[in-house]
Amino acid sequence: MSKRYPAFLVLVFLVSAVLVPLVYAQNSKTEPDGDRPAVQSSDGSSEDSSTKTSELRSSAEIFAEYQQKLENLASKCDERGMTLEAKVTRSLIYKKQPYFFDVSLLSSKPLEAKLPSDATKEQQSWYAALRRLREKYSNETFAVAERLGARKRGYEIVACVLQTLYINPDHKRARQFMGFSLYEGEWRSQWEIRRIEKGYVDDPQFGWLLKDQVEEYRKGKRFYRNQWITREEEEKKIVASASGWRIETEHFSILSRVSLERGVEIGRYLESYYDAWIRLFYPFVANENQWTARLYSNDAIVSKRHQVILYRNRAEYVRELKKHDPNAVQSVGGYFPSLRCIFVYEPDPKSVDDAFDLMPMLAHEATHQLFNECNIPNSARGKSDYSKLARYANFWAVEGIAITAETFTLDRAKNKAAMGGFKGVFRIEDALTSLFVDNEYIPLERFIGMSRTEFQAYEDLNLLYSQAAGLAFFFMFYNDGAYCNAFVRYLYGVYQGTDTPDLIVKLTGKSFKQLDEEYKTFMKEIYEQVRQDGSPHPEKTHVNIKEAR
Ligand SMILES: [Zn+2]
Repeated sequence: MSKRYPAFLVLVFLVSAVLVPLVYAQNSKTEPDGDRPAVQSSDGSSEDSSTKTSELRSSAEIFAEYQQKLENLASKCDERGMTLEAKVTRSLIYKKQPYFFDVSLLSSKPLEAKLPSDATKEQQSWYAALRRLREKYSNETFAVAERLGARKRGYEIVACVLQTLYINPDHKRARQFMGFSLYEGEWRSQWEIRRIEKGYVDDPQFGWLLKDQVEEYRKGKRFYRNQWITREEEEKKIVASASGWRIETEHFSILSRVSLERGVEIGRYLESYYDAWIRLFYPFVANENQWTARLYSNDAIVSKRHQVILYRNRAEYVRELKKHDPNAVQSVGGYFPSLRCIFVYEPDPKSVDDAFDLMPMLAHEATHQLFNECNIPNSARGKSDYSKLARYANFWAVEGIAITAETFTLDRAKNKAAMGGFKGVFRIEDALTSLFVDNEYIPLERFIGMSRTEFQAYEDLNLLYSQAAGLAFFFMFYNDGAYCNAFVRYLYGVYQGTDTPDLIVKLTGKSFKQLDEEYKTFMKEIYEQVRQDGSPHPEKTHVNIKEAR
């Protein structure tokens, strides 16, 4: 297949914003300079890149210098006995967490502009120096994004913008690029601003409510069909009906049959997951031209809201799902592409059938949903046509990346999210057991060659899911992420419907046999690490998810 793949920014994947520009910097050095168009600099003057390249620093070089300057500043703090300041400064230096993708999320609150008034002179000058560093290097990085604008290198632009925000989360133009503006002292999306202007507030417990209704809600009143009733009355009516509490977030529409509060909680979780997902997989949402256009426009990239239904319990879930899928009795949740909807239920901690955690399960299904429903530019598959997904091979990757999403963790206080790891991840541990204890392994040529229908009809689904988990983990983290770029391009091909059975061979430059060997070697190292820590791991993140198919 001679199709060319877009030059992704894929290492964003690896380290949030930061390493991606490195990849690009390496890539761009291989291009003949003479082919490049004139570069538009941020001040609007035209420069010819073939003569100016040596003077223009790449975003990777800028980032490396910024990290060095932070270390210098921290050392100065050490010399003066300013331990806390040194620690704060060093906390800004990027540290890679092995086997994880770290994603920095954006806070709605801007950083404090000033230290408290009783700060010493030395503290004041340290803080001013820190702010100067953040401003200088974020501005320099954003200028690289602007220069790339003239060449419509949309994916590289996103990487530069993410690096800009990593250095300085309050960089105004970088925030605008990502769809945020400062509104009443907080960073808000256009959708949030429209809500606020209509008189809504985002209550921590009840979500978006009209401002004058919040007090009544806190007193236990509910506004139901244009009248105020008690919380208990509302619950009775809703449970008896076929409806639920409808919670609209920016990207999801949730129908909760459990409670308003549970729906709001799920909405916040899914929005955080979406934030992380879009930072890792932005080429799946818009093409290079569309991303480039964000430099010059405030119009956000919008897609239809993604639908989720949360049932009260297993019985209710099975009853509803049977209408769409006779196999639903076996499942505990699923994404139904024909209905463009995720169906899940609230697990009962006392029931053996419900031994799973809802949130990882939602991250798994939301991964299927987002990849399928987001508008992959120029998809040969037709918009969201699931029947054409992995028609001839490669279906394992669809499950592999969704299983990886089950490891999504969120640290709201630090605005950080992460995905990956193997400790306590039962699918990876199962893959290790299959490989090294049970000697059960499907050679990659056969495994990767499975189409969607073949995969889903396979008898031992647990074996397929655990091997998919292990293999996705391998492609993302083997040899410091050497295949990470290839893996995201591979996923892109699968979701675009342009994949062939040997796509992964073409993208990695390795034969199936070589990949088999590398996979086993890599997993053996992981197996030894797990054994050293004591296996089986005491706390597993979640248990077996049986998906509706
Ligand atoms: Zn799945």
